[in-house]
Amino acid sequence: MPGLEDLYREIILDHYKNPRNEGTFPAPPAIKAEGHNPLCGDELTVYLILDGDVIKDIHITGQGCSISRSSASLMSVAVKGKTLTEVDRLLKIFKSMMSISTNASGEPEASEPIEYSERELGELIALQGVVKFPVRIKCATLSWNTLVQALEDRAS
Ligand code: ZN
Repeated sequence: MPGLEDLYREIILDHYKNPRNEGTFPAPPAIKAEGHNPLCGDELTVYLILDGDVIKDIHITGQGCSISRSSASLMSVAVKGKTLTEVDRLLKIFKSMMSISTNASGEPEASEPIEYSERELGELIALQGVVKFPVRIKCATLSWNTLVQALEDRAS
């Protein structure tokens, strides 16, 4: 029986090799944001189509390491079709899992621990091992931070 770590590695590799929701839209939507992780060189752009407060569709373009690419793919699957309230909860859970999270300047940021079940995370749990490699946490959180950026830009 393969261990959990093998299973998680499989999920990460699968999303890296076959990224979901990749590419732009025929007519790129107004809501988009660019994210950059200078520590690793990861770059990505998140495009969103909202229907009321639901993320109707999401596309991602970019380049970067396997963790950033895989995390972006996993994030896109996790938030597509969700309400912004559900997305906010997922974001908090994900940041809590990445408990040594960093802010935009790369400094550690205390995130309040919250209660959640692993079921809520779905495949996102595959990234939990990243927390053991603090330098890679920013790779894993880049797509989430960029998603937040896109939603904040929309609101302003
Ligand atoms: Zn990276």
